[in-house]
Amino acid sequence: MGGPEVEGRSILMSPFPGSAGPHLFTGRTYTLTDEGGDPSEYYRLVRKTADACLRLVPGAGRLLRAVREASTWKGRLPWSMGRGRDMKKVLVAVDSALGSYLTGVEEHLRTLSPAHLFDTTLRTTRRQHLLYMMEIELNNRLARAAFLEAPYRMALIAHCLKDFREDCRAVNGDIEMLCSRCDGGCLVRLASELLERFGVEPYISASMDHRGLFQGLMARHPGLGVLGIACIPELVMGLRLCEELGLPAVGVPLDANRCSRWMGQCLETTVSLTELDRLLGGTGDWN
Ligand code: SF4
Repeated sequence: MGGPEVEGRSILMSPFPGSAGPHLFTGRTYTLTDEGGDPSEYYRLVRKTADACLRLVPGAGRLLRAVREASTWKGRLPWSMGRGRDMKKVLVAVDSALGSYLTGVEEHLRTLSPAHLFDTTLRTTRRQHLLYMMEIELNNRLARAAFLEAPYRMALIAHCLKDFREDCRAVNGDIEMLCSRCDGGCLVRLASELLERFGVEPYISASMDHRGLFQGLMARHPGLGVLGIACIPELVMGLRLCEELGLPAVGVPLDANRCSRWMGQCLETTVSLTELDRLLGGTGDWN
């Protein structure tokens, strides 16, 4: 067992309980792991903060709608939202609990190239990042039971968990890429095996047309449920798309956003298999 020798090379098993993977990797705009590479404190705080926010805006569905609405406003929250006063308290609570997990959003936005100014993912603001963290937690609370009961469940794992590997042997599958389990310590393999243990078909997400993908799958599998593993902004967009299509969907964010889109080159990242296991109905002991 050991850490990585060179960033961007193979992922080895971690000695840390939260994530399988190496020590801390800093993301472009957020990093959920502590200095030991463990994201469990983030998950403890996001749950605690969601509970606190629910005391301000009772009802997970109502709070989720308010959080989404607030995340679309880049300036001051309009009082016409009706919940303006409570949402300001929500924002303060979320910022004070989770703000330290943001890593250079302002610097990233300041240095965004003109070619990316219209990219809504890359333009995600500090407030949006924080509200998206809350949105994922609330969404999972609301959609988890329906997802677990869905007759056919599939997962899309972000391609950036694997595509820095020159020797990755993933192959084209019926709808998306399939991991061929060539590397015992690869996070895509570990996540895929965990997902299969809970009856969820794992795919590596490569296509950009998720709407077309889901619509095709819905025609083949009327009881479709979706699980996503992606960076925070991409995961939120995927969860919103699933809700629009009437699909129960849950997700686990990558521990840090380090794909080529954010970093200019694809660098290694991790995901919490403990959280994935819990979301799937396990105890969090994914080994
Ligand atoms: S085939 Fe699977 S286990 Fe092998 S490197 Fe690619 S994603 Fe990892």
